[in-house]
Amino acid sequence: MPRLIADRPVLHMTSELGRIMAAAKARETAGERILHMERGEPDFDTPPHIVEALAKATRDGYTHYPDQRGERAFREAVVEKLARENGITAHIDDLVVTSGGTHALFLAMQGLLSAGDELLVLSPHWMAIPKLVGFAAGATYRSLSVYLELLEGSWTPAEFATRLRAALKPETKGIYLNTPNNPTGAVVSPEHLAALAEVAIERDLWVISDEAYEHMVYDGARHVSIASLPGMAERTLSVFTFSKSYAMTGWRVGYVVSPPAMRAVMGPLLAFYSTHGVFPAVQIAALAAVTGPQDCVTTMRDAYDQRRRLLLDGLGKGTAVWAPVPKGAFYVFANVATARGDRDLWAMADEWLGFGVAALPGTAFGSQYGDWVRLSLATRADDVTEAARRIAQHAAAPART
Ligand code: PMP
Repeated sequence: MPRLIADRPVLHMTSELGRIMAAAKARETAGERILHMERGEPDFDTPPHIVEALAKATRDGYTHYPDQRGERAFREAVVEKLARENGITAHIDDLVVTSGGTHALFLAMQGLLSAGDELLVLSPHWMAIPKLVGFAAGATYRSLSVYLELLEGSWTPAEFATRLRAALKPETKGIYLNTPNNPTGAVVSPEHLAALAEVAIERDLWVISDEAYEHMVYDGARHVSIASLPGMAERTLSVFTFSKSYAMTGWRVGYVVSPPAMRAVMGPLLAFYSTHGVFPAVQIAALAAVTGPQDCVTTMRDAYDQRRRLLLDGLGKGTAVWAPVPKGAFYVFANVATARGDRDLWAMADEWLGFGVAALPGTAFGSQYGDWVRLSLATRADDVTEAARRIAQHAAAPART
């Protein structure tokens, strides 16, 4: 009998987000109303000037095979943005336009990881990371819990560096960093980034820096790109996306900036793994996004900030669920140890669905997060308030076993 499915573990990895969304859908089909706190999908429409730019670019003939690395005018605009906002000096040939941040991360992993290499994944980590490493044949990852500790101010930069050093192995090729972090909302401070940079330089490591939420920062927190620190540009692959900043998840546009040492690799990788790049007209629209008015970014960020307060204030009325205050991204990572009691986290998630709240179990972000759930702020403010009210009402008392 021929084997019908390729024998690759990555093809059998399941999605916890998919599981909770399917459970929520089943209840909706049965007529129940569910407040969707599980997905990281902005509820805003893409700003109209970006939509118009797409229509115009399509009429203007940006409809042919794209430049292998991306439209030149767009990459030029991004080079300026990187200098202006991120403190990164990039050469236009060291930037490739990708189908969103996921594809940029995919290329980064393909470009860096060989069989036997290990990626140290700072955690909790975005749920696609294990799969993206899994596609790099023979590479593995190991998770190191850092973001909750950094968010709660538990470690000095020197302590952070000590933890990193202790976690490294001879086969560690690089570190995956994600600040602002999904799911905790931790924003790694410049001092802690400098500590990470020191370790990376000392041990000759790469850093894959996922900056998907670069514009979503609150309470005066500042996003710093690690590639802007001395000695880091040559060992960092910086990943950006238009998905969150401009509510462009469906457009699939992002980019990765890599050091000149990778120049010969990233273009061909892009061509192979996306059948020749991103729709040119989308790139021209993304150019309009990055060069046009930025008040849409601020408006959306302010809305997430307001919802963050609504959720935290609402949860504050319960006693069993608490959350560290996120400083960035658009999630609240809430501790449910008391509310869960002796139950499996999924049993609790199912109970929450029963009172109309879909939350993503923390194990999606690393097996050690069985006492946590992620609540997304990419949902209408009214729904956020109502979800907090229901959680505080139903999950306040310690669970009966
Ligand atoms: N990195 C992180 C941390 C994310 O949360 C996401 C999206 N949820 C991405 C990268 C990729 O997003 P996209 O592919 O839509 O650009």
